[in-house]
Amino acid sequence: MQGPSQVAARRIIKRAAIQSGLEAVSLLARSGLMASARGLGAIFTLHHVRPRKEKSFDPVAHLTITPEFLDESIIQLKADGHVPVALEDLPDYLARTDRPGPAMVFTLDDGYRDNNLHARPVFEKHGIPYTIFVSGGFIDRTHSIWWETAEELIRRLDIFAFDCGDGAGEVRLPTRTLLEKYAAFDRLHKALACAEQEEIVARLDDQARQAGIDPIGIVDREVMNEDELRALAATPLASLGAHTIGHVNLAHLDEENMRLEIVRSAERVAEITGEIPATLAYPYGDRCAAGQREYQAADDLDFQLAVTTNPGVLTAQSLDSRHALPRISLNGYYQKSRYVGALASGIPFALSS
Ligand SMILES: [Zn+2]
Repeated sequence: MQGPSQVAARRIIKRAAIQSGLEAVSLLARSGLMASARGLGAIFTLHHVRPRKEKSFDPVAHLTITPEFLDESIIQLKADGHVPVALEDLPDYLARTDRPGPAMVFTLDDGYRDNNLHARPVFEKHGIPYTIFVSGGFIDRTHSIWWETAEELIRRLDIFAFDCGDGAGEVRLPTRTLLEKYAAFDRLHKALACAEQEEIVARLDDQARQAGIDPIGIVDREVMNEDELRALAATPLASLGAHTIGHVNLAHLDEENMRLEIVRSAERVAEITGEIPATLAYPYGDRCAAGQREYQAADDLDFQLAVTTNPGVLTAQSLDSRHALPRISLNGYYQKSRYVGALASGIPFALSS
């Protein structure tokens, strides 16, 4: 088993590898060699958009960018010739022969309240359409957000005694030092990434409550409710997309429940906007969370397109795999505008893998 310092070292090395890739590619961009690499554009994934708040234990820092970075990124992408396109208009845009430039498409996952407070003004300033993927269980405060719960719980504890559901039974993980806290979070993350989550999340919520943390209170603080979403969806640039009810790893459900999660979330969005959404984002979205079976379900259930979190740029072939579209994360670790063009090329992911 890896110790906390190895885990921390791995995190740092991985980050450095991507970062040096970004530096290399941003040099390439300036030399004009990248136009062919950026393909037909990119779909960007965002989560939280809010002012920077320094936290010593910040295990999901990559899920937060600042409004300033978003603003700089859009300015950079526009300068590089990218054209803003709404996600639901993407198939038509890709099919055009007279495209004025590569597409830039913005998506935000989970429906955080800061999207309305801090991202919306930036999108409106630049006239950029955007899609927010919402989970019914977060909107209705019936499901907790495990990574937010775990962050608050592990921050508070000196020992995290927990059955991660990985077959090891209950383990007592020391969580006194910062490195130990990161190691415990990573252990839980790893267990949850590729497992049936429901039981593990219920145990986590129980433990959080015992420690005086209200997991649903966190959702209520962080995520937009129905009224807020309805008001936002009525503005000209915002759209809502489906993101399941329970923010579950769909690949770990049986076929019937997998489809129910998708259908019910589309219906929940329709109750808010009056329309069944055209778009779906698979929660977690990597190959461990969505595969051919889920892509087929999205197609059968009449979604116009669906997005993964598999990194990559749009290509001519994207039209043929429109229920498995790649996205590029605008990542809190790499908030420099000169990196955005590099990210949009997809090259750093090849360099770091
Ligand atoms: Zn999500």
